[in-house]
Amino acid sequence: MPSISPIEDSSPSIHGTISTGCDLCNSTDFSVLLDARDGNSRIVICKNCRLIYASPLLSPEALDSFYDDVFNNDSGCQVRVGGNFPRDKDRKKEEVLAETSGIKTIKRFIEPRGKNVLDLRCRTGALTSILKKEGADVIGVEPFLGNVNYARQVRGLTNIVDLPFSRFHQFPLPQDEYFDMVNILSHHVLAHVLSPRRLLEQILRALKPGGYIFLDEKDVLHPVRHKMQSALDSGPAHQFHFTLHTTARYFHAMGFNLLEYEIDKHRSSDFCHIRIVAQKPKEGRSPSVVSKNTYSDSGPSEKAIRQCLWWLERSWRLRLARMQIKQKFLKVSHKLGF
Ligand SMILES: [Zn+2]
Repeated sequence: MPSISPIEDSSPSIHGTISTGCDLCNSTDFSVLLDARDGNSRIVICKNCRLIYASPLLSPEALDSFYDDVFNNDSGCQVRVGGNFPRDKDRKKEEVLAETSGIKTIKRFIEPRGKNVLDLRCRTGALTSILKKEGADVIGVEPFLGNVNYARQVRGLTNIVDLPFSRFHQFPLPQDEYFDMVNILSHHVLAHVLSPRRLLEQILRALKPGGYIFLDEKDVLHPVRHKMQSALDSGPAHQFHFTLHTTARYFHAMGFNLLEYEIDKHRSSDFCHIRIVAQKPKEGRSPSVVSKNTYSDSGPSEKAIRQCLWWLERSWRLRLARMQIKQKFLKVSHKLGF
């Protein structure tokens, strides 16, 4: 196994670069969707590509401080476990997801045996472990120390690198075109980094021709159990808010062949989840799998997105009541032994 140190970053400040325009299309023409309020950033929509993002973006230092001192939504984050292991309940959920969904999605496209794999945001390493048992050589990257500790100390995974989200584009890369596959299925990542474009460019550089990327993302226009008034209220955690259209458009813009992009019917959290499978083009060859959805540049208009967000905000109390009734029903069912 070659060196697994994060790569050095000699490029200019991410903050300075991104605040000048849209990360996806570079347009500087945007309109405001939501003014800054209650600890949430101002959220804007690009008038050219309809990417929804925080403007201005946080600096890398501010983002790091937020995840070190405030963020408590991950079972392994510093604020919640202070470097100790995450709760068994959360880890078991991760293991179920890896067994019932993650590895099955991957094996529809590629056999892990003998492959070099980058597992970005590997959490406690549930899917990393499965890939390793299947015969892959895996490097895991994870920002939260509780998860990293569990992966290393309990699962015995030695190639786990802790990197903050602000430096995810600096994942270990022993050499260009080294990885057969990059997995980002264990938890969504693009919304948390300061430049999805920069991360995807680096992944494209890291993949062998014909190499695969598997990615999960949340669809901001389809909340399921989101408890806030606006679907755009995420605090500083989400610097970007994705739709199926803008997620796919990133891959298209980067030059990937999109093999699948769809709402994952078997997975939801506070939002419905988008699943992307894409491939770095083989030289002179078309992708080996025909896309289920042929990518087109159409997608919801800015007006349609505004109407959807308006309706979600107006129906928030109704959604909240529905969630509370469901939770009460589950509690009663549990007590009665159903
Ligand atoms: Zn744009």
